[in-house]
Amino acid sequence: MPEIIYIMGTARSGSTVLQIVLAASPGILAAGEVTHIFQDGFLDDAVCACGKNTADCTVWGEVGRLTAWGRSELEKLARMVRSLESHANFPRMVLGLFSGRAKRRYREVNEALFANLSRVSGAHTIVDASKYAGRALALSRAFRGKVWVIALTRSPEGILSAFRKGHREEQKPKSLAGAMLYYLYVATATRLTAAILGQRAICIGFEQLAADPAGTLARIERWCGKDLSAARARLAGQESFDTGHIVTGNRLRKAGTVRFDPSVAEIDSPHGAARIALATMNLYRSLLNL
Ligand SMILES: [Zn+2]
Repeated sequence: MPEIIYIMGTARSGSTVLQIVLAASPGILAAGEVTHIFQDGFLDDAVCACGKNTADCTVWGEVGRLTAWGRSELEKLARMVRSLESHANFPRMVLGLFSGRAKRRYREVNEALFANLSRVSGAHTIVDASKYAGRALALSRAFRGKVWVIALTRSPEGILSAFRKGHREEQKPKSLAGAMLYYLYVATATRLTAAILGQRAICIGFEQLAADPAGTLARIERWCGKDLSAARARLAGQESFDTGHIVTGNRLRKAGTVRFDPSVAEIDSPHGAARIALATMNLYRSLLNL
């Protein structure tokens, strides 16, 4: 079983960029949003960042063959994982109220995924950017001492700005109320999970990452003890990063290579109701100390 760096947080907070940057160091593989691999990868055969379909990808195709789950099994696994990790079931996850059988199955399935990912790629560390706080807790409990959780947060201004724009392919713009409720809920789950995990979790702000990527990487390096010098050197030389074998997640993965671009942190100035929503979100954020 390899170690896992898990990226938790709200949508549109830079998790795809962060995992691609982390994976620029030898022995670290960016695996995308692993929680969606059953449906999007193994069942729907989505295109991997390497340009091949999941079944033909040298990493995921091989993992699919080694795990050898059939279609009906995959459908069941996708449902089980979705249910355990969902925002709706987060309170149940915090309290550990799932059956012993469900927890054992969850552990077996994820062990098969991560161990085979490690075997096929040779990586000692897998980055999983699934974002759900429930998954951070579930993986940390299933694989004690193996999981490092990065709580990636973004300012309410940045979240609202990103949600208003939406994205042509993958995400529809959210309404103001929808974005605000989403933020309050996910920020609470993120803060609570980081508190439960203690030293195994670190809070990183998207704005901090955008303003000082090398410094943020050095902080992550000191915290988890992994050698990220290759990634820091690429940042310093303003080199591009390979998107590797990410099947699930943000559209960035389709770019093949990415460069770190701080201009993505630019935001619109809010008017009217948005200012009230922002004030509420910022007050809440300071209460949570995020
Ligand atoms: Zn691939």
